[in-house]
Amino acid sequence: MLSPGLRASLDARPRCPLATLPTPLQRGPDLPGGARLWVKRDDLTGLGLGGNKARKLERLCGEALDQGADVLLTVGAGQSNHCRQTAAAGAVLGLPVELVLTGPEPAEPAGNQILSALFGARTTYTGTEDIETSAAVVGDVLARLQGEGREVAIFPPGGSTAAGASAFAEAWLELADQCAALGLSPAAVVHASSTGGTHAGLMAGRAAARAGGAEVPALIAVGVAKVFGDLGVQTADLAAATLAHLGLDGDVALEPGDLVIDWDFEGPGYAVPTAEADAAIRWAAQRAGLVLDRVYTGKAFAGLLAHAADGRWGRGDDVVFWHTGGAPALFAPGGVPA
Ligand SMILES: *Cc1c(COP(=O)(O)O)cnc(C)c1O
Repeated sequence: MLSPGLRASLDARPRCPLATLPTPLQRGPDLPGGARLWVKRDDLTGLGLGGNKARKLERLCGEALDQGADVLLTVGAGQSNHCRQTAAAGAVLGLPVELVLTGPEPAEPAGNQILSALFGARTTYTGTEDIETSAAVVGDVLARLQGEGREVAIFPPGGSTAAGASAFAEAWLELADQCAALGLSPAAVVHASSTGGTHAGLMAGRAAARAGGAEVPALIAVGVAKVFGDLGVQTADLAAATLAHLGLDGDVALEPGDLVIDWDFEGPGYAVPTAEADAAIRWAAQRAGLVLDRVYTGKAFAGLLAHAADGRWGRGDDVVFWHTGGAPALFAPGGVPA
């Protein structure tokens, strides 16, 4: 039984249809040690070539339209998938999109940048990776838009607000329904985390399902970005805020052990390739025709493979890899292993 309050609460909140849902839950090749792999294909959410941000944007844009916004403003790394999908959302909704991307303006746009421009977004580059500078540039763009009399909806990096994360509480129910239909009780769900919204939402959905009496799999986030501060604290706070946003904080409790972030696969830093991720990318590509990226999903899948090889799961276990997307970054310089 799933927590009945979660479904009703989600249905009562604004949403605009942008994603192709439910995404498939597909059987993958067996893992080292013999556990069965399942892949939750959020790379197939549609919306400008797919990825996890489509779910969050349904909720973020739903709120923005409710509040009368007439332009969307957001910020991300040079190859931000979130910014690319926000650009696509603006195109679908007929809203102009302003992006602030960190780093220098590239001589030639690549990967996600090409798509964001194609979707009609306007991009300002900050010239540096410095977070404070990017906040200042966002402030400048906001002031310009407001000076033009626009109603601006600002989405934070990764779209990780409580409303955005609530889409992943809903996604947890979607996965639970698919597992029930297949007769699966997975041992674990593994995914990449950078701004924590995906993780927080899944935590909230999992806690709600548990409160409703369901057996729930372990949830393991593989951390891929320390740039935004203490991800553990932020994710725990956002999971609690997501439950509060849904009006469930009185009925659904988060437990201290619910937050699991595995930092062993980030390597030297955000978007810095690792040998383990490159090997995991080849494993998934050459055994399943799956496309993983070097920034997010490659590192998360490296974690999943390592835990399988260490014997954490074995024959008879089912393990779900939540594929969060990221393929356009393969077409940026250095996007694929040599
Ligand atoms: C943004 C992103 C993530 C991480 O999601 P968060 O909710 O920001 O933690 C994972 N994978 C891909 C491909 C992404 O674009």
